[in-house]
Amino acid sequence: MVRATNLGFPRVGVVRALKRLTEAYWAGAIDTDELQQGARDLRAANWRLQAAMGLDHIPSNDFSFYDHVLDATVLFGAVPDRFVPSGGAVDLDAYFALARGTENAPAMEMTKWFDTNYHYLVAELAADQSFRLAGDKPIAEFREALALGIKTRPVLVGPVTYLCLSKLTGGTHGMTPLGLLDRLLPAYQALLTQLADAGADWVQLDEPCLTLDLDEHTRAAYRRAYETLAATTVAPQLLVATYFGGLRDNREIALSLPIAALHVDLARAPQELEPLLASAPPELTLSLGVVDGRNVWRTDLDRARDTLQRVVARRGADRVMVASSCSLLHVPLDLDTETDIDPEVRTWLAFAKQKLREIVVLAKAARGEDEEALFAESRAALEARARSSRVRDVGVRARLAAITPDMESRLPYAERAGRQATKLALPRLPTTTIGSFPQTRDVRKLRAAYRRGKVDREAYERSIEVEIERAIRWQEEIGIDVLVHGEFERSDMVEYFAERLDGYVLTQHGWVQSYGTRYVKPPILYGDVARRAPMTVRWAAYAQSLTRKPVKGMLTGPVTMLHWSFVRDDQPDGVTARQLALAIRDEAVDLEAAGLRVVQIDEPAFREGLPLGDADRKGYLEWAVQAFRLASSGVRPETQIHTHMCYSEFNNIIEAVAALDADVLSIETARSRMELLDAFERFRYPNAIGPGVYDIHSPRVPSRSEILTLLEKAIHVLRPDQVWVNPDCGLKTRRWDEVEPALALMVDVAREVRSRAA
Ligand code: GLN
Ligand code: ZN
Repeated sequence: MVRATNLGFPRVGVVRALKRLTEAYWAGAIDTDELQQGARDLRAANWRLQAAMGLDHIPSNDFSFYDHVLDATVLFGAVPDRFVPSGGAVDLDAYFALARGTENAPAMEMTKWFDTNYHYLVAELAADQSFRLAGDKPIAEFREALALGIKTRPVLVGPVTYLCLSKLTGGTHGMTPLGLLDRLLPAYQALLTQLADAGADWVQLDEPCLTLDLDEHTRAAYRRAYETLAATTVAPQLLVATYFGGLRDNREIALSLPIAALHVDLARAPQELEPLLASAPPELTLSLGVVDGRNVWRTDLDRARDTLQRVVARRGADRVMVASSCSLLHVPLDLDTETDIDPEVRTWLAFAKQKLREIVVLAKAARGEDEEALFAESRAALEARARSSRVRDVGVRARLAAITPDMESRLPYAERAGRQATKLALPRLPTTTIGSFPQTRDVRKLRAAYRRGKVDREAYERSIEVEIERAIRWQEEIGIDVLVHGEFERSDMVEYFAERLDGYVLTQHGWVQSYGTRYVKPPILYGDVARRAPMTVRWAAYAQSLTRKPVKGMLTGPVTMLHWSFVRDDQPDGVTARQLALAIRDEAVDLEAAGLRVVQIDEPAFREGLPLGDADRKGYLEWAVQAFRLASSGVRPETQIHTHMCYSEFNNIIEAVAALDADVLSIETARSRMELLDAFERFRYPNAIGPGVYDIHSPRVPSRSEILTLLEKAIHVLRPDQVWVNPDCGLKTRRWDEVEPALALMVDVAREVRSRAA
């Protein structure tokens, strides 16, 4: 019989319960027992909900206090020595220290999970790394659910994906992390046996790396890994989950693994189905990811039912599972909690809970228990969405059709740089920040009060001005060269703009985990995008009026607006990006007219959208670069355009980043200790660049010598005259008592290095 399954459920809880619990623990307001009890309650609620909805396979170990890749590192005893002396136990505080850093130990590096906005902590392994089963989290959580009468399917990061996402530190002797596979597998085997002993029938091993372009070596590692795991004497049945793309060249290897079930992402790669059906061994169960785990639109149930019926007809119902395309971690929890969403758009949507419903309804339909009413409702919603006049704006369409190539280019960089130097008169190694300053409780309260109508507009604006003025004065005092207004009026860099653009709706509770207790609330882009009025000019112009130093206007770029929203799926992303670009372009031009000499167009999500398969990358980079250039080329040559990206992997996009032709690029580098500059050693980046010298993701204030070392490294790899000095990212998540000493140090270090070279 066709089973209804789920690959992972949002761990954040209703109204961000997990964030509140964890932060209360960090602040010392609750103790370990209270935190653990809160976490148990959350897990129990999620399992019970899924059981009540009729799921046949319910995930466990999808919960995490910070990140599931970090959990695997702890579970397999691979924690870096700087945190826990080898072999030592990792208690909860040590666990959080890995992610957040301590006085003496910088945090582990964090990077984006494939093309999502979820971040994981990168394992740092030694060439002679040993592994052991050092914890029991998956077993304990399996038992916890069992005690509630729910038999779950534990989820683990698969061994090959785990190693492929790790990095080797210390002397590597030409080895790659995959060279550690044989050392790692016994720990997985021990875990599988313990799970089987605890009563688990199935285990889900997530291997999203199977959707990447793999070399022969990695493919061979897949075979070796799963042959070894399959040889475990006592083990549950293994389901290997692939997602975020199709299997393509890895199909053959995936189908040859000695496993009971293979999950494929049919939302991203519907074209995988036919070749899979043609060559899957008859005894292999196929888990069909037909319900999109990456977006919020309702599933086309009719089409999904057809797919299912086709597969059932070919392979038999017992060999088929219906599933979300990937973990539902990437979508908001529950549409039912949204009370304010536009009623028309609402009928087009499905969040995690609604997606479970779709999965169950589809599985039932495949068993012949059709709930026709639900199919009819889904059909009506889809048709209404396709017909709605709300999704098309003729004015926007006409403007798009009239875009000409000259709208996407500026004077050559050298010429612009000369004019900007005259206009801005900055010192060498200019200092700046990325935009936001700490969002204190007072600022957040103020915005909330204004939103609820408790504070009138005049009082609100006056209070924001006070914040801006204080920030400007302080920046002048410590001697920053290019100032920012601080973004106090913004709850979020995407939501702020979405709220002011046509074509978007916001949610109240649509939180999705980004990293740790940092969640984002992506707005929903459902229709053609248009700017109604200037969005940021009022605040930027006020900030500039307070100082003679240049203030940087702060905008979110079109590619990031797109990737950090849930985006309409009824037209190519490139078209949507161009619509966003025109709106941002108009805003940049308005900022310039208001006297801003520097405008930053943030693109932290530029890389995130990079397709996982090589073949699709060129097309993406073309439209993404074009959108940024369209947004940034409306201003005059003497206006300096900055952009910002926060990740440290530039290897395969460096040419595209250069093609953006921003005058100044600031990037995240501190946590990876400038490793990313490798890419810049091979490729001479032409324009100015500010590699972050202060890791803002950790509450730790860096030492003078740390900042100095990073800056010296940067100057060594880059031309000293092209280097800017700035933190890794915006400072909104930090406190003033962390930011003040850190930035003062940063400015001081820049001065010291300047004076040395003079
Ligand atoms: N300007 C934004 C800020 O400083 C950039 C944030 C980001 O890169 N994620 O908050
Ligand atoms: Zn950033």
